[in-house]
Amino acid sequence: MPPSLLLVDDDPTLIQLMGRLLGDLGRIRFATSGEAALRQAHAERPDLILLDAEMPGMNGFDTCVALKAAPDLSDVPVIFVTSHTDLDHEMLGFSVGAADFIHKPVSEHILRARVTTHLRLKQMSDELRRLASTDALTELPNRRAFDAALAREWARSLRETQPLCCLMVDIDRFKDYNDLYGHPAGDVCLNSVALALRGALLRPTDMVARYGGEEFAVLLPNSTRDGGCMVAERLLQAVLALHLPHERGVLDGIVSISIGVACSDECQEQQGDAAAGESSSAYLMQRADCALYLAKQQGRARIRMIESPPGAAPPLVGQGVLDDLDSAGRHS
Ligand code: GH3
Ligand code: MG
Ligand code: MG
Ligand code: MG
Repeated sequence: MPPSLLLVDDDPTLIQLMGRLLGDLGRIRFATSGEAALRQAHAERPDLILLDAEMPGMNGFDTCVALKAAPDLSDVPVIFVTSHTDLDHEMLGFSVGAADFIHKPVSEHILRARVTTHLRLKQMSDELRRLASTDALTELPNRRAFDAALAREWARSLRETQPLCCLMVDIDRFKDYNDLYGHPAGDVCLNSVALALRGALLRPTDMVARYGGEEFAVLLPNSTRDGGCMVAERLLQAVLALHLPHERGVLDGIVSISIGVACSDECQEQQGDAAAGESSSAYLMQRADCALYLAKQQGRARIRMIESPPGAAPPLVGQGVLDDLDSAGRHS
């Protein structure tokens, strides 16, 4: 996708001129006021904004302050385009977050050089950000990205009083898999499992991350325990359906996973205290981890959750997936 440039100036002639000069460097959009620029930027995040400093109504400085205050837009570089050349003016621009200045009348060479430089820097910082939050082997979000999403979704679940479900997923007997087939084959297996897990999530807001080693964490916003168990069942079936041979596997000689399910409605005691938000989301993860341990203990290739603590809301699961397990813990 070509980069997107937002040109903001109350003078349509100048916008037209700059649009012509920059047309081959990206997709050009324009706005003729600060208010319109904010609307456009929120509707579709640009890669670079060229902002006229002097506009009637909301001027460029106010617009820049508003852009930098918006979490989604604060990283978008802003180049001020201004007829002022005094130092105070430039210092004011930098103090509100400007990346650079271009003086009017606009020189074609300076304009193209500055825009090219800032687009390249933006591309590099986007790539760094993506790499910092992506697992190199599976290309899933990594643990850092998961922790950030957990904090965000936990806060949202409190704000909107919606349940949040978390699943901990672990490949069964994976050390044996590596020992039997070699580490490179283990990597291929991890990749296939990652792909199957991602493919089995249906809502765009659901997230699966590589939590570490052969462990994956799944976040399901607006999901009850019932919903979480249903998704867990779908994940388990998706991995079994891969039919990846595992001579020492626990189920029919194929690779399987175990899953621990936890839901925020089990953590209500902590939820009452907003200041304890962080420890509560950690408690959610801890419960999912304990449930995973239980699944391992009880034979692997299964889904488990732990009983709610005294005083917490009763489990919402009545006829959920756990009831489909026979006494040996196998799925019927
Ligand atoms: P359990 O059923 O109890 O989970 O047993 P397990 O063997 O899966 O668990 P254990 O923690 O003993 O072993 C995890 C293995 O996962 C050991 C480690 O070498 C392997 N592993 C972790 N990360 C990678 C990786 O990136 N690639 C490969 N090939 N193996 C990995
Ligand atoms: Mg102007
Ligand atoms: Mg394992
Ligand atoms: Mg493990």
